[in-house]
Amino acid sequence: MPSALVVSFEEARHLVEQHAGGVCPGDAEIVELLAGLGRVLAEGILADRDFPPFARATRDGYAVRAEDLAEVPARLEVVGEVKAGEWPEPGVCSVGRGQAVGIMTGAPLPAGADAVVMVEHTLLTDQLADRPAGKLLPKLVEARRSVSRGENFVPRGAEARAGQLLLDRGRRLDHAGIAIAASVGKGRVQVFRKPRVAVLSTGDEVVEIDATPGPAQIRNSNSYSLAAQVQNAGGEAVRLPIAPDERGRLRALIEDGLSCDLLLLTGGVSMGKYDLVEQVLGELKAEFYFTGAEIQPGRPVVFGSCGGGSSTRSGRVGDPPPHKKYFFGLPGNPVSTMVTFELFARPMIEALSGMTPQRLIFLRARLKSEIRTKTGLKRFLPAVLSGEFENAEVGLARWQGSGDIAALARANCYVVTPPERERIEAGEWVSVLMR
Ligand code: AMP
Ligand code: MG
Repeated sequence: MPSALVVSFEEARHLVEQHAGGVCPGDAEIVELLAGLGRVLAEGILADRDFPPFARATRDGYAVRAEDLAEVPARLEVVGEVKAGEWPEPGVCSVGRGQAVGIMTGAPLPAGADAVVMVEHTLLTDQLADRPAGKLLPKLVEARRSVSRGENFVPRGAEARAGQLLLDRGRRLDHAGIAIAASVGKGRVQVFRKPRVAVLSTGDEVVEIDATPGPAQIRNSNSYSLAAQVQNAGGEAVRLPIAPDERGRLRALIEDGLSCDLLLLTGGVSMGKYDLVEQVLGELKAEFYFTGAEIQPGRPVVFGSCGGGSSTRSGRVGDPPPHKKYFFGLPGNPVSTMVTFELFARPMIEALSGMTPQRLIFLRARLKSEIRTKTGLKRFLPAVLSGEFENAEVGLARWQGSGDIAALARANCYVVTPPERERIEAGEWVSVLMR
């Protein structure tokens, strides 16, 4: 049994981040672009040409030379028109002194032009005189407002130059990332293999969800909530059978779990007589980085690793795994399990899936009604964020403690209270962790 190693929330989080910084993601695989949504890029995405690939008009109007509009109103001769998708061949469709070319949003700026004047600031005149047969082009346009050079178009390459890195390896692909990959013609992308995360629930009272529970038994909801959280964090959950509070079977299942990339245990980490998880991990020569954090819910949370770096490996059954494997022992109370997963297990799964580390950031909202707590622990209290637009309000969910999943399911965030505050007044700005 390891000696107690209880650290502050921030220390615990930083310890996990530190270890997560040293893990290696799995191999890369190639997937269809849309199948890459939510996956982590194993390759950087480069610009295949300049972006934009041509000086691109951002308004409907007339391509002009800004100096011709120094004094307004200014009359210009309309010598052509270019719409999106057309290429204004220099010499055939270019802008000389005193000339303008009609241009549509998304069309290339013709040679000679250095600005676009918006159509709203122009007036067509002389529409009938000298019109070439069959053409509807007006001959003259009157600009009512001046423009500066460079106005209303984006120069070629202003967003990115050909070969420039647009998206880093280690980025999780979201819809904006998908847009970038699509814009450079990548129909398939290289992403990291998802880490396999073993989920092991422990406890004599816990039964499978399709069993009829006895009067003192409860269904194994934690394996399912954890599997869902693992999936959300970018991992692939491997649900193991329920481990009873019995050393031999618990140890065998822990050893199974250590064959995955990460092991998550729930239950059996408190101070009870049958809380055997730490003892059995100790027998497996685990190294513990913390065995508790000053938080509520989730104080007994455990983080450690097994295997790797041992010079006495003999390959016998029961020896620690040859590669270092991390594990988290999460408290069994369902709300504690969910909270400690988000705070500590998530960053490790993200690292194992190749993602560049992200710092945990809380948002702020105004507290709806006063909170009274005891000092000493940082609390993550299930809460409901409401209000609208700039007025974010948050109120605690009514809950019966760390076992109350129904309350948590109704909540949409946690209010984070600092350990030194006994009372937080209504109307104060408080930290919020979304879930
Ligand atoms: P423990 O951390 O083992 O002391 O368990 C704390 C509480 O969480 C007890 O009330 C357990 O019955 C409950 N619990 C433990 N494991 C699970 C599970 N897999 N699913 C739902 N509740 C659980
Ligand atoms: Mg238990």
